[in-house]
Amino acid sequence: MGEGRILLLGGTGEARELAGELVSAGIPVVSSLAGRVRDPRLPVGDVRIGGFGGVDGLVAWLREHEISGVVDATHPFAQTMTDHAAAAAQRLGTPLLRLRRPPWEPDVDDSWQLVSDIGAAARTVGRLADTPDGLRVFLTTGRQDVAAFSDLADAWFLIRVVDPPTGALPPRHQILRSRGPYDLDRERDLMRDNGIDVLVTKNSGGELTRAKLTAAAELGIRVVMVQRPPEPAVGETVGTTSAAVDWVVSLST
Ligand code: NAP
Repeated sequence: MGEGRILLLGGTGEARELAGELVSAGIPVVSSLAGRVRDPRLPVGDVRIGGFGGVDGLVAWLREHEISGVVDATHPFAQTMTDHAAAAAQRLGTPLLRLRRPPWEPDVDDSWQLVSDIGAAARTVGRLADTPDGLRVFLTTGRQDVAAFSDLADAWFLIRVVDPPTGALPPRHQILRSRGPYDLDRERDLMRDNGIDVLVTKNSGGELTRAKLTAAAELGIRVVMVQRPPEPAVGETVGTTSAAVDWVVSLST
């Protein structure tokens, strides 16, 4: 690894897990969080919080802190940070790895309507809401994506978020503040008690929040699934923290 440290771009459970493994292995690492969540679960080891100031800021930070490798373990939908990491790593020739949990794959009982981005999800819900009975939507895409649904007056939204949304909201909604993991019984009860017709989710992947998809399938609830954004061509991608540890160790050999 040379004499430098690893920058671990985080904000996910996988990033926290990887930070723990690298610290235990005695590998110098600094985790980075965007600073969006009020009370974040912090990884062990050194942590910095806040944006770098675009690609130029990140390049300067990598130089100043003598970073010898970058692991981008951000959420699969944190596209800007991922693109900035790729651009900065390419400019400096710094090795780059993405750690991405595998996306959810549909089970036989699942019936998902795949959409390319959050705008397409909102348009899909808008079309479905055009019914005399009204549409009841369970929105689990995160607080930054709620505003995309703010024009939809014909649907009612149950909006589940960690921190309250700050942007525009759809006129008819209820905010439910909670943080996963969620189990199947609770997800089934929540959707049934709220008379949910449609679940809107990003394809985040991971077991901690998959139960909502199983519950939706059991209850015959339609799922609007936002597909992941494309990944940059720079760097490699792995799906497990152990593969990421191997990659980091390989930098020094
Ligand atoms: P984003 O749109 O990809 O990034 C926007 C800006 O936020 C970046 O340009 C960067 O600012 C800053 N940033 C993002 N991640 C950072 C990090 N780990 N460390 C330092 N700065 C970071 O990001 P986002 O989608 O808002 O996600 C923000 C954070 O929440 C990420 O850490 C991500 O892993 C986590 N998260 C995101 C989602 C999601 O659905 N998007 C879900 C769960 C968790 P500068 O340009 O100033 O460097």
